[in-house]
Amino acid sequence: MGKARPDRHRMPHRPAEERVKNFDEVALGYDEETAVCEASRCLACKKKPCVAGCPVEIDIPGFVKQIADRDIAAAIRIIKESNCLPAVCGRVCPQESQCEDVCVLGKKCEPVAIGRLERFAADWEAKQGAVADIERAAPTGHRAAVIGSGPGGLTAAAELARRGHSVTILEAFHKAGGVLAYGIPEFRLPKAIVERELDFVRQLGVEIRTNVVVGRTLTIDDLFDRGHEAIFIGVGAGLPTFLGVPGENLLGVYSANEYLTRSNLMKAYLDTHDTPIARGGRVVVIGGGNVAMDAARTAVRLGADEVRLVYRRSRTEMPARVEEVGHAEEEGVVFELLTNPVRFIGNDGHRVRTVECLRMELGEPDDSGRRRPVPIEGSEFTIEAGTVIVAVGNRANPLLTGATPGLDTNKYGYISVDPETGGTSREGVYAGGDIVTGAATVILAMGAGLRCARAMHDYLMAKSSSA
Ligand code: FAD
Ligand code: SF4
Repeated sequence: MGKARPDRHRMPHRPAEERVKNFDEVALGYDEETAVCEASRCLACKKKPCVAGCPVEIDIPGFVKQIADRDIAAAIRIIKESNCLPAVCGRVCPQESQCEDVCVLGKKCEPVAIGRLERFAADWEAKQGAVADIERAAPTGHRAAVIGSGPGGLTAAAELARRGHSVTILEAFHKAGGVLAYGIPEFRLPKAIVERELDFVRQLGVEIRTNVVVGRTLTIDDLFDRGHEAIFIGVGAGLPTFLGVPGENLLGVYSANEYLTRSNLMKAYLDTHDTPIARGGRVVVIGGGNVAMDAARTAVRLGADEVRLVYRRSRTEMPARVEEVGHAEEEGVVFELLTNPVRFIGNDGHRVRTVECLRMELGEPDDSGRRRPVPIEGSEFTIEAGTVIVAVGNRANPLLTGATPGLDTNKYGYISVDPETGGTSREGVYAGGDIVTGAATVILAMGAGLRCARAMHDYLMAKSSSA
């Protein structure tokens, strides 16, 4: 370990004063020299703890070695054996709490920058215009359906297709990609990159049908009747949570979901589209997670005069990635920490004008292990706001589960599954991602998709051997 360079190579970023003016990507990625040097830091550990720390079990030392040897084509092939969305994961995965958290180098110095190397390999492939040739099994004659085209659904579909099954994804929106398409903004995850990853999944033979709301357009039983023998549900947790305070239905109060969907999916951020969205003025964003940071940074770019982020705990408890919090701050977002909104006040036209807040202090830890915010009596104050964006979490949408007899859910409406296989209470129906765990991460949804696809494969193959 003595020989390893102690610090990992920095990621270049566009300067804050330039990036607030547009939606271009903020992080710029490694060049080849930097990637090769960073890859050379890896110790090629025999026990490979980093692989165990990756929910889709990428052969990390394997692909990192190929980069160190300058065989980038081989590196991307290794990654794509396990991960159909490497350019996405290299950008948005919280590697600091996954593979990099358990990297042996991290005990003495900084861990290998695994995510940045993954991104480098994926971007290198995109620049060549080539697509790694991934082996596919011979057709099995079995048909599977995947509901939802987020990272969980795409991973399940890609794995099933690689194993020789015929797979159709059914997606409610007019565009595939789930949160990758409608939630995460262009400046963190360019949509051209999402499209390229979708093309790779299509090239594996997966059909993606959009504008199909399962539970409305057709049901799970219809899918079985139409010849699908196994079904994966990956519909995410897309129903926004609200605060339940007076004035929340005033004009100008958005859920972060609606605001980001208008900007990303309906392209309000482009001059070429006239999608209505609030621009300019004073914006208050409520929440402390990645979604709140994305909404605040979107508001900055849409021309807000001022963006204030109101969060009821302190900075230490913020669930957002540290990097994203830093980016928001660099871009001028003002943090009102230990602050809780208690009501929204409007004008005669029923438009929001002011947010009334209370200052908080931290008490004893709650069920989440974080210290509970406690209101400070008499600390009321107001913040002017022409737009308020509520980003305090999402929950399960009951549309599909409510329309599927025999599908068990827990008291919060999330689908109950066998943790090993992702199997639900309905035979042949599997589920994974946010609709099982509640709002989580891209890579956890992908890990669940992979686990379910393996179990679905066993289920389908057992059917053919008993036929
Ligand atoms: P989703 O990505 O939610 O996809 C579900 C899909 O199913 C959607 O396309 C939806 O339209 C479709 N669908 C829903 N109901 C139906 C139906 N009845 N019929 C057909 N289709 C249906 N995670 C990270 O790891 N890093 C980040 O930086 C990060 N940033 C985020 C930023 C935002 C703004 C948001 C909202 C989330 C973020 N997350 C991040 C969380 C991450 O995106 C999710 O955990 C992940 O996308 C969950 O994947 P999924 O496949 O379960 O569902
Ligand atoms: Fe390389 Fe870190 Fe994995 Fe060891 S744990 S093989 S140093 S990436």
